[in-house]
Amino acid sequence: MFSEEDFLQISGIQHFSFCRRQWALIHVENQWGENYHTVKGHIAHEKAHDKFFREFRKNVVIVRGMPIFSRKLGISGECDIVEFQKNKNGVQVNDLEGFYKVVPVEYKKGGPKRRNCDRLQLCAQALCLEEMLCCDISEAYIYYVEIKHREKVFIDEELRNEFKDILSEMHVMYQRKYTPKVKTSKHCNSCSLKDLCLPKVCSDKSVKSYIENFIKGGDNKNEKIT
Ligand code: SF4
Repeated sequence: MFSEEDFLQISGIQHFSFCRRQWALIHVENQWGENYHTVKGHIAHEKAHDKFFREFRKNVVIVRGMPIFSRKLGISGECDIVEFQKNKNGVQVNDLEGFYKVVPVEYKKGGPKRRNCDRLQLCAQALCLEEMLCCDISEAYIYYVEIKHREKVFIDEELRNEFKDILSEMHVMYQRKYTPKVKTSKHCNSCSLKDLCLPKVCSDKSVKSYIENFIKGGDNKNEKIT
């Protein structure tokens, strides 16, 4: 069991699978950078997070912005939407009458990605809800705002294991307060932290030797530091 101060943010899974260094800069070093992509992401989430909102439809109760956590996994965050679908094989939920199947829905600004990060984030939400509500969740959805499409995601063993492997790596790096060195990739162009990370400058030369060379009057142009 994890204590609350060791909880990692579920939203960090996206950063971690995008770039380990970006995740460490944000979640270990508490740095943050805004760019077009992050601002657009916030707007998409604001639409989903109309807090304290509960919508009652025929057989479904929709809850937005639900805080979630798992002590077993050491994670916390918020579900954009949780649908409680009436189902006799479901579970009882707080003040709602009857039994419900629990289905998390995550909002994403763009379209489906090649990387598995959206599905991993949804898997984390499902595991939290399972622990909090003593239920089993076999499927969930990602709603892609840009293409107005809802994709079904199966919360199967393979996805659960992939998520748990990534989460162990995150916990180890967080405990060690470790920030990986720059590893430039195509992601750097769209990275919200590129002005802090300086991927073109930082790569394989130490800051110490970079500064020493600068003091000696050397030309550091084209040289890279770590
Ligand atoms: S600029 Fe590149 S290396 Fe640096 S944090 Fe962003 S993606 Fe990672």
